[in-house]
Amino acid sequence: MKNVFVEKFGGASVNTAEAVRNVASILRKEKKKRVVVFSAMGKTTNAIEDVVNEFCRTGNLEESLVDRVREFHLNIFDSLLKNDEKRKEILEIIDGLALAIKENRDEPYDKLYDSTVVFGEILSLKIISAYFSSIGLEHRAVDSRKIIKTNDNYRSAEPLWNESNEKIRELIIKELEDCNTIITQGFMAGGPNGVSTTLGREGSDFSAAIIAYCLDAQSLTIWKDVDGLLNADPKHFNKTVKFETIPFREAIELSYYGASIIHPKTIKPLENKDIPLYVKSFLNPSEKGTIICKCKEIDPLMPSYIFKDNQILLSLTPKDFSFIAENNLSEIFGLFSRVGIRINLMQNSALSFSLCFDQVNPKILKQILRELSINYKVKYNKGLRLITIRHFDDESISKLI
Ligand code: ASP
Ligand code: MG
Repeated sequence: MKNVFVEKFGGASVNTAEAVRNVASILRKEKKKRVVVFSAMGKTTNAIEDVVNEFCRTGNLEESLVDRVREFHLNIFDSLLKNDEKRKEILEIIDGLALAIKENRDEPYDKLYDSTVVFGEILSLKIISAYFSSIGLEHRAVDSRKIIKTNDNYRSAEPLWNESNEKIRELIIKELEDCNTIITQGFMAGGPNGVSTTLGREGSDFSAAIIAYCLDAQSLTIWKDVDGLLNADPKHFNKTVKFETIPFREAIELSYYGASIIHPKTIKPLENKDIPLYVKSFLNPSEKGTIICKCKEIDPLMPSYIFKDNQILLSLTPKDFSFIAENNLSEIFGLFSRVGIRINLMQNSALSFSLCFDQVNPKILKQILRELSINYKVKYNKGLRLITIRHFDDESISKLI
């Protein structure tokens, strides 16, 4: 449907009552057929993660952690509207969260996690929908578990494209006939037999891309607290430049190196159907933002700086002083693939091979070190920062050095 627009609002855009009002005012500005995807409010996913992890550590539900989630949401709700019935529904959802933990206590961690963290998105959509109704913003709320179907690879579930396509077309297109605005949750999806799954942290960008793809949408807009895609993280640089346009391929490369602005899986489905992605600021909604599309060059063409912290650097030298050759590499890659670690950077010389990867849990690190020390002298450093400069020039390198 070429006249349908998909938009996504992340946690930071709905973290206070004021922020939720701002979202409503953005949606009201333009009348069009749209599907709007919402994340959990603020840092709710982290807060629910704490509930789950504490439960796994102690075997008890830590009430004070659940209270934190309840108070945060009631606070936003009470500042937005007064409606006893809806308020009761919010409280019931929080009870449902506690119940989900107890019911899934014997399930593997990843399944327990997914059954529980989704309550962040469920609460968020419930409150937003109640508020929209209270101000007469006509909409329909659709549970994302009914439209995005996945396998049971909990915490990183993969979409079943055919099934999702069918459901999205069936449910969303029907609703859009009667109503211009459909709202739904990001991040959470429906696994086999109706269980909840999630698409991985920050996955609501990907949810929005799946919906845009299946609807053949006109465009996807991701609303952020920055003016668009920048060439560096303002946390590290006091001068940054906003990109006007970025080719799809370039956006995939940038997120591969760790530019954390868009979930890496988001771009591919959009590229396949040539659906442009706008990254815009909910604080400056009239600003143009950045457009990621099928264009030739990144504009302006200039260096991007990407920092990845908490890296481990391993250097291996064969104990028998032989050269590093194909058989060594295949042995090393085999090990990394077995333990499921992605290598971020590698380099070899005649006598050594170095590789860099994200900090892993100590048990896995121990296992790697143990296996590698059979044939190699192993040296390693922790807590490093990997710096990538894409489209580097002499100046950008000397600036960092
Ligand atoms: N709420 C989820 C998270 O914080 C998903 C998202 O925001 O994209 O990871
Ligand atoms: Mg988020």
